[in-house]
Amino acid sequence: MPGGNTRSTVFREPYPVYAARGRGSRIIDVDGVERIDFTNNYTALVHGHAHPRIVKAARRAIERGSCFGTPTESEIRLAEALTERVPSFEQVRFMNSGTEAVMMAVKAARAFTGRRKIAKCEGAYHGGYDFVDVSVAPREGLWGPPGDPAAVPSGAGTWPSVTTDTVIVPFNDADAATRILSAHARDLAAVIIDPLPNRLGLIPASAEFLNAVQRFCKANDVLLISDEVISFRLHRAGAQRKFGYAADLTVLGKLIGGGFPVGALAGRQEIMAVFDSRGTGPLVAHAGTFNANPVTMAAGLAALELLTPEAIATLDELGARCREEIRRAITGSGVPWQVSGMGSLFRIHPITGPLRDYRSTRATPKAARLLAMIMMELLNLGVFIDAGGFGCASTVMDEGDAAHLGSALSAALSAEAP
Ligand code: PMP
Repeated sequence: MPGGNTRSTVFREPYPVYAARGRGSRIIDVDGVERIDFTNNYTALVHGHAHPRIVKAARRAIERGSCFGTPTESEIRLAEALTERVPSFEQVRFMNSGTEAVMMAVKAARAFTGRRKIAKCEGAYHGGYDFVDVSVAPREGLWGPPGDPAAVPSGAGTWPSVTTDTVIVPFNDADAATRILSAHARDLAAVIIDPLPNRLGLIPASAEFLNAVQRFCKANDVLLISDEVISFRLHRAGAQRKFGYAADLTVLGKLIGGGFPVGALAGRQEIMAVFDSRGTGPLVAHAGTFNANPVTMAAGLAALELLTPEAIATLDELGARCREEIRRAITGSGVPWQVSGMGSLFRIHPITGPLRDYRSTRATPKAARLLAMIMMELLNLGVFIDAGGFGCASTVMDEGDAAHLGSALSAALSAEAP
């Protein structure tokens, strides 16, 4: 395997930790070292590792056969659990990753509107599909003016020609966004928004920005796609409920699979009809050998059933406690850092200024290296966390885990910070 593994996100220099097993809030590596797992596979494990109810549901499903060339009742059950939670989820389709769900959202939006362009925020990550794999983490020299960000393909494999169909708006700048979107209004199929974009600093979209985008979409018959692959956990009815808007289409993933590969697209029936195979066939074919895999569906349903409003309240309290502990460690050590986040999610920033948009949350390469070093030091102190400072609580953690995060960060900062 090039570089030794198959997932860019989890690679670390000189080599990543290899997990052997997980149990509740703990991850145990192949050397037998146990740590508190604050990555929870980047939010896929909202109930920690090997939750007994999820294991039981998955085991029961797999004993009946792991996949079929037919639909199963399990997908109806998970679809019902989702549509029952969120008013804008009139219909659902399942796939195997958030990336696929975004891809199908883009195709559905194009088919429904008959237009080709997609708008996204500078710095927002929506998976690896080419038309959203633009301006995800552009280098400073390539940014363009703040009020009119350049569209920058994310890597050498994303061809620059996609940038003619991908429009970039600055996050949280309502005026600039309205101006840019308006200039493309007639060609725009959809605007895709994550109201708490992780890679964009895990800072919330302002009400003014969300209002402006919604207003624009309504006035111009442009679809609003909400990417809640991570942010769905903020409320029983998802991030759109937390932030007070209704999306035309919503992209889901991670937690709704209970720890198994998953993606879902949910939205208005009228739009979702592009996937309807009846009659003359679908406007957008949506195949996939493992779509709505029954093991995933069963595990996902168990995970959703466990994610009650009470569980979310406890989760959010734990998240707040983690942020508080991090803040205290930062203040105590005197480093010019800060922490962002909401609900059960947090991100540590090796920078001081106000966090408003992609550019203001982007650390210098030197600061990012220092952060990665401190996160590496945390591995030695019993805390498993992402090298970029992203973490989350799970429902099986407790206050002691949050306190451990704080004391380990204090120790790491005093050992390593200049
Ligand atoms: N959207 C967002 C907001 C994400 O965070 C991710 C994955 N981290 C994706 C889409 C893509 O999901 P997946 O990794 O399941 O393809």
